[in-house]
Amino acid sequence: MADDHARENLMDDDGGALADSAGAPDSSGPTTLQNLSLRHSLELAERNGRSGSWFWDKVSDTSYMTPNARAILGLDMSVDINVVEHLMANIHPDDREYVERRVRSLFDDGQPFDLTCRICDGDGTVRWMHARAGVDASDEGELTTFAGSIDDTTDHVNTLNELQTSELRFRSLIETAAFPIIITRPSDRSLRYVNNIGREILEALDAPEGTFYIPDFVVDVSQYEALRAEILAKGYSDTHEIELRKKDGGSIWYQVRAVLIDYQGDPCAYTIMHDVTERHELEEQLRLQAATDPLTGAANRTELAKQLDFAVASCKRGAPGFALLLLDLDNFKMVNDALGHSVGDNLLNEVARRLTSLVRETDTVARVGGDEFAIVARHMETVRGASILAEKIIASLSVPFELDGVVVNAGCSIGVALHPWNDGDQETLMRYADIALYRAKDDGRGRYALFDEELSRKAHERMELDRDLRVALNEDGLSVAYQPRFDAQTHEPIAAEALARWEHPTRGPVGPDQFIPLAEEAGLIVTLERQVFGKVVDDISMWRSKGVVTGPISVNFSAAHLMSANAVDWVLNLLKERGVPASAVQIEVTESTMIKDEHSARSQTQRLADAGVQILIDDFGTGYSSLAYLNQFRAHKLKIDRSFITNLKEVANATLVKQIVSIGKSLDLRIVAEGVETEAQADFLKAIGCDELQGFLLSRPIPADEFEALMTHQHAQLLRTTPF
Ligand code: C2E
Ligand code: CA
Ligand code: CA
Repeated sequence: MADDHARENLMDDDGGALADSAGAPDSSGPTTLQNLSLRHSLELAERNGRSGSWFWDKVSDTSYMTPNARAILGLDMSVDINVVEHLMANIHPDDREYVERRVRSLFDDGQPFDLTCRICDGDGTVRWMHARAGVDASDEGELTTFAGSIDDTTDHVNTLNELQTSELRFRSLIETAAFPIIITRPSDRSLRYVNNIGREILEALDAPEGTFYIPDFVVDVSQYEALRAEILAKGYSDTHEIELRKKDGGSIWYQVRAVLIDYQGDPCAYTIMHDVTERHELEEQLRLQAATDPLTGAANRTELAKQLDFAVASCKRGAPGFALLLLDLDNFKMVNDALGHSVGDNLLNEVARRLTSLVRETDTVARVGGDEFAIVARHMETVRGASILAEKIIASLSVPFELDGVVVNAGCSIGVALHPWNDGDQETLMRYADIALYRAKDDGRGRYALFDEELSRKAHERMELDRDLRVALNEDGLSVAYQPRFDAQTHEPIAAEALARWEHPTRGPVGPDQFIPLAEEAGLIVTLERQVFGKVVDDISMWRSKGVVTGPISVNFSAAHLMSANAVDWVLNLLKERGVPASAVQIEVTESTMIKDEHSARSQTQRLADAGVQILIDDFGTGYSSLAYLNQFRAHKLKIDRSFITNLKEVANATLVKQIVSIGKSLDLRIVAEGVETEAQADFLKAIGCDELQGFLLSRPIPADEFEALMTHQHAQLLRTTPF
């Protein structure tokens, strides 16, 4: 059985019956081999080895076969090797005819051979041998000398066998496992192998025909990304739960664990999956029950509180603001008293239905009391947005309801709280919305009211700033400051970051932390950044004409700008137009921009990099990108976020920064630290191999002319101290 196996294997390798390579042996057999000392040398060379050799000098009719060769063929020293039949005596019966044919055609026609065959020993064991032979001919073409070598390859064949059997056993174990096993390649998120049961499940999944791209199968890509990130970071993963989408509209939940293995030469994740759908469904059911109002199916008070907590927490982490609308039906008590509870219940049901149809899926509609409802509307940051929604609700509920043949007019009043302008936890927000609701009712039915004067004051201020920013952009009212970057070793200025500055006509300087988000929201960011970039290019061009050496100037690009249509062409054209080389500017993009739309970020940064514009990853460490895939973005530099530098005193933080530097270096990235404020920080960063420093310790952002003076002075200094 095992023999057949190996045989198959060998045949497969050479694609024919028994191994045979036509032009194999080099037939430069020595013609003076009759010489006894040569025989001796042959024997000596073969001693302790597992190969043997032989020759036949036809001219002198001398032949010799070394003891090793005889032993392999199973012939003792007395056997006359000049008879072909003798040589064949122990060849396996199934192989004999073939081997004999090859041997004869060697002697008759001078055809060299290279073959593998089996030898049967007297005791029934089977061994493998590999034989090669060639021939030498005279100038007239007469065959003169034949010589060959014979190796015992039994061990080699057996090892191959064992390997193959264990590989097969391993494979069949995986193939027939009762749970899905898949092998994926994290680098391109592709599926590389699926076992039997996995294939069945794959067919039931809702994914484009023939896809091998894992995000195509999962409901929530972030679940897969978390798993992938963990595998890449640690080489294995803890248990994760992943939801897969089925063709029939349902989903399956899997508990998965993975470990990084070498699969066909690639680092791949060997992933074992366990179906936990039932448990999930049960949990979901329990969760729903605990969260819903039994009459209307809307969320209940507990769930509302939970959603509000969650929304407040997300806001703290930087998510957009939201609105809490509290509404009270105007005529409910009357309907209930006059038409009975069942009509009252129907009305509540119908109201819940209409409200749900007006909001987005991510919003929450809750019934919080007899005839009181609440809505948490996510991503709602403006008074205008909240007002529009409140008006829509009032309009919708003022359409008469037809309930059991009775037409009922309900109508409602609404109080609105807007977070984060109305700051506070969920209870506070409920109180604010309630106060606003009372005011709305005071104003007369069918009205809405927003909580708080402060709110309207701030909203007003924002509106004004928005308007003024538009004016500033129209009138070229922004300027650029330059914050130099310094060589970490020598503390010489070698580059700079361009930062937008806005001097408001009445308020004085407004910080970019205020006007950049405003510009983003108002859709002005691309215009703003193009103005900044234009100014920077003009300054560089001026400095170049004066012979001021500044080093590269980096400019911040927002996600909206980087992804905007023809952003790259615009940049490259401008540089060309002003005669500024691509190497004179760098683009800073934040880590979060890169993650937002990975695909297009990659293609944009690659194009810039191809044109010679270096890419710098800003605020590194605040997002969740893995260092490993920064290479794909063709990043050239990494700027460690200021928060890490500020907290370098914390050991854990310092260790993290050290790791970022060392991994960054191993990826060939230059490392910049920003926000360096103390000597101690600078020393530490220098010691761990950081390349460039930026921060108040060395220089604040300064106007263009000051920066020019600094670089000119620097240059002069250099010229003075350099000996030539
Ligand atoms: P950023 O890109 O991280 O810029 C660095 C910010 O850190 C600058 O603040 C700089 O003044 C400040 N900084 C530098 N060294 C120190 C230090 O040692 N300590 C402290 N506490 N701060 C330091 P700035 O100029 O207020 O800019 C704030 C942010 O505004 C920038 O953060 C950037 O995200 C944004 N920004 C500025 N100009 C532009 C622009 O043209 N486009 C975009 N998209 N964003 C810009
Ligand atoms: Ca920056
Ligand atoms: Ca930064």
